[in-house]
Amino acid sequence: MTLFDRVFNGNDYNYERTVAAIDQAIATYGEAEPVAYPGTAYNLPCYYSITGKKINNLGELKAALENDIKPMMTRNPRLQDAFDSGVASALCAEFLEVLKYLHGAEPYAEPEMGFLTDAFVRNLGLPLVTGDIPGVAVIIGGAENPAETVELAKSYQAQGILVTLTGASIRHCHEAGMNLGEGVRVVPLGYEDQSVIHVVSVALRAALIFGAIEPGDTKALYAYTMNRVRAFVNAYKSLSDEIVSYGAGAIQLGFPVISNETENMFRVPKSLIQQLDTSKWNATSLEARDIKLKITKIDIPVSYATAFEGEIIRRGDMQVEVDGSRVDCFELVQTKEAAEVEDHKIEVVGPEIDEIPVGSKISLSYTIEVAGKAMQPDFESVMERKIHAWLNCIEGVMHTGQRDMIRVRISKADFEAGFKFRHLGEVLYAKVMSEFEAVADKCQVKIVVDAEQNKALRAHANEIFNARDARLASMTDESVKEFYTCIMCQAFSPSHVCIVTPERLGLCGAVSWLDAKATKELDPHGPCQPILKEGCQDERLGRYDSMDEAVNKYSHGAVEKITLYSLFEDPMTSCGCFECICGVEPVSMGVVITCREHAGMTPLGMTFSDMASMTGGGVQTPGFMGHGKHFISSKKFIAAEGGPGRIVWMPQLLKEQMRERLDATALEMYGVENFTDMIADETVCTEDPEELLNYLSEVGHPVLGMEPFDM
Ligand code: SF4
Repeated sequence: MTLFDRVFNGNDYNYERTVAAIDQAIATYGEAEPVAYPGTAYNLPCYYSITGKKINNLGELKAALENDIKPMMTRNPRLQDAFDSGVASALCAEFLEVLKYLHGAEPYAEPEMGFLTDAFVRNLGLPLVTGDIPGVAVIIGGAENPAETVELAKSYQAQGILVTLTGASIRHCHEAGMNLGEGVRVVPLGYEDQSVIHVVSVALRAALIFGAIEPGDTKALYAYTMNRVRAFVNAYKSLSDEIVSYGAGAIQLGFPVISNETENMFRVPKSLIQQLDTSKWNATSLEARDIKLKITKIDIPVSYATAFEGEIIRRGDMQVEVDGSRVDCFELVQTKEAAEVEDHKIEVVGPEIDEIPVGSKISLSYTIEVAGKAMQPDFESVMERKIHAWLNCIEGVMHTGQRDMIRVRISKADFEAGFKFRHLGEVLYAKVMSEFEAVADKCQVKIVVDAEQNKALRAHANEIFNARDARLASMTDESVKEFYTCIMCQAFSPSHVCIVTPERLGLCGAVSWLDAKATKELDPHGPCQPILKEGCQDERLGRYDSMDEAVNKYSHGAVEKITLYSLFEDPMTSCGCFECICGVEPVSMGVVITCREHAGMTPLGMTFSDMASMTGGGVQTPGFMGHGKHFISSKKFIAAEGGPGRIVWMPQLLKEQMRERLDATALEMYGVENFTDMIADETVCTEDPEELLNYLSEVGHPVLGMEPFDM
């Protein structure tokens, strides 16, 4: 049997059972039964991205199978026929999987995750761009010895690679007690082989969300997945014809398949790679996909990788907890003269972890002192904001909060592996010196584990934080001479440019004006370049000749003009990894904002995913705009249309996050107390604009006194 036969057989098998399954579903529910995946604005994402068509019910699903999928199943012994049949087989898998969700069913239970929502895809945006997730491994099946599967998955996890598991690999990792889920970037899709379609769905949505690829433009779609989504497949023998057909589909998307199968398998250069020694799969896969790893060698007794960033350490698993809510704790970065810093000095004042009873909540502080010719006090807060991610990447350590409200848990497993407080210092030292190498010449870390000393030290740290806050508060768009570009997201959204100002951070929420300034120092020819504020055409809109020139240049001519403060007139583009999105609510003449964490409906009759699908990929969509959370409380938030006083609806969790700053801004701008309470949320109304209007009238919302939008 040839490889072609295996692909065609696998495709035929999938097609026939899809026909049978749809017929069965129609017999049970009727042709009008709605068909949908949960948490996506992209319908059946693989079918939609490939054909440009949407499917609403079982009748349409059956017609799509006959009219769109069947014609792809040509049977000439040529590579393109095999690839097309692979895609057809993958689409059958997507149809089979969506049938599981009929009638609001929740077909997957832990550890399986099944379909991955748009929020999952968007969460991947920034780490893929920054290289924190250097690639995506798709592991199908498992090794004869389960320990080998676990070792392979862990090897990718330790490199920060997103791992997806199908079939026996889930069982092997689950039974070995491995932590699984989005938080640790090891994602069990499903025990059935067809569940592999859920990672294909992520890759194709990335093209629509970040790349603004037109659904149905398969040439552009496959070029995007090939060039920008660094995925690869590791398939353990024995491979069924069904899996072989999925492999052909993967190759069409540009994802090489590495397997130890020898039965009727043939090598396809750079695409289908036989590697019988599975211990070499990691190296072979990285080479095949040209994945470069950011190597951080840190001298600690446990693993260090971005994959551990979302790891949760439960109370029963913790050895000690640094608890800033009960005792004096803080983290601080300070600029020092070179003579005051002894490079790589890690000092622990007080007892080490092995001198403290298990389960203790302790007072602990760490102060990082940095010296360097190019070091500036402005970079202290930029480094401090990174401590959260730096410490969370330690396997078995969980960090939350910042400044003097931190919580750090160190697990019992780490303690048993020999992890000490000084290792926190090792990590902080290594990260400062590697990520800020252009400004940090020397660095030392002092860790104090003493309640009495920390009380005084914390009071001093708070004086520093207060002075810094006063300086930041005085920093406005008017008080600086230049703004910064950020084009970091161009790896995925080739025409997107953020203009970052003191009062408008990047839409991912991760790049403030100070961050952009520091990035410029660290990487002079990198993604953040200063743009002098020149040729102001309209102060209200925030329209400058120099900003237009910059976006034109950095978007390669795709965007000609932007304004900094308007939702309607040439709004800033959105790439896809925005924290929030706002959209016009025409009945109240206000704006609705929702965020990625909120999956529910808004009064626009759209979820976050629906609204987000209106923009993204570096295009301008007047009336919709992606933005960072902290922009909501900025006086410059849609200032051209009246400012944050236009906000009429936000989900409760976002209101709570923004309350303090938003109330302060509204008091200053409109003289309104407790403005956040005047904003409706899901407890007031979800879909009915009339209910929203009634609420706004009841609370005397300032939007009712504003001019209608000039749309
Ligand atoms: S500031 Fe903009 S371009 Fe830069 S990383 Fe954030 S979203 Fe991407």
